[in-house]
Amino acid sequence: MRFNEDAELDTSQVEDLRGSGGGIGGRVALGGGGLGLVGLLLFVLLNQFGGGGGAGTGAPPGLSLDRLSPGQQADNSQLQAKCKTGADANRDQDCALVATINSIQGYWSDYFARSGRTYRQAPTNFFTGGVNTGGCGGATSDVGPFYCPADSEVYIDLSFFKDLRSRFKAQGGPFVEAYVLAHEYGHHVQNLLGTSGRVRPGETGPTSGSVRLELQADCYAGVWAHHATRTPTASGKPLIAEITQDDVNRALDAAARIGDDYIQKNLGSGRVNESKFSHGSSTQRQKWFTTGIQSGDPARCNTFDTHDLG
Ligand SMILES: [Zn+2]
Repeated sequence: MRFNEDAELDTSQVEDLRGSGGGIGGRVALGGGGLGLVGLLLFVLLNQFGGGGGAGTGAPPGLSLDRLSPGQQADNSQLQAKCKTGADANRDQDCALVATINSIQGYWSDYFARSGRTYRQAPTNFFTGGVNTGGCGGATSDVGPFYCPADSEVYIDLSFFKDLRSRFKAQGGPFVEAYVLAHEYGHHVQNLLGTSGRVRPGETGPTSGSVRLELQADCYAGVWAHHATRTPTASGKPLIAEITQDDVNRALDAAARIGDDYIQKNLGSGRVNESKFSHGSSTQRQKWFTTGIQSGDPARCNTFDTHDLG
């Protein structure tokens, strides 16, 4: 994935909480200083949550984080200073994420406008270790990236992208990071369209509403990718100059590694238990991302009305 060198970035779509407070209880504080406990938390939460790709329904299973100061303040001054153009995005991961978020929201703004609706911008919060959300309580990075429907914001600890490579053994890359963010914005779109209301919180299973919601978010991520190189943002130029076949292959690789069956087999009990599925199998996640990127049509992401989830 390559960004247009002279396209302008809009850092106001990100809230940078990483430098804030000093009162943030990170992993060490939560784990009592022991990696063992942190590992245990990770395991429990993954089981409960379905792992990467983030939350879809309701509040994340946040831990109560007494050590989190309630007044985490966003400070975007560093992002503003270093992330001005696509050239910066080609050099710097933070700026690449800003550019990606701009592109994703640019596409959905256009799409909503064309269908006579209004898209509401949703900021992405970058945090480290733990975060107090505006509407979903406290969460640690162990839950993975997530969207909070109650405050309509995306939350991500960027260390998740390292975890994707080290724990999930994904190839990774900027377009994988874009896929993850576009998935979370898929949940925002579902929230705006009212689709999220079709899911009973906590339900699991291979044909559950939860799986349908997650697969639709994968499909929406693909839809954005289909249009990304033709989606102009405020400066009039598309932010994304190129998405290669290698990029797409890496996204499909990541989709497979955050499938419920892969996680259960490789990071959980070792056995596949479909009744606990919350995000869909590896094959299904690949299938619906592919449907989105090939068709470019949100109407094709009809996971709630199909008998063939894949
Ligand atoms: Zn999700």
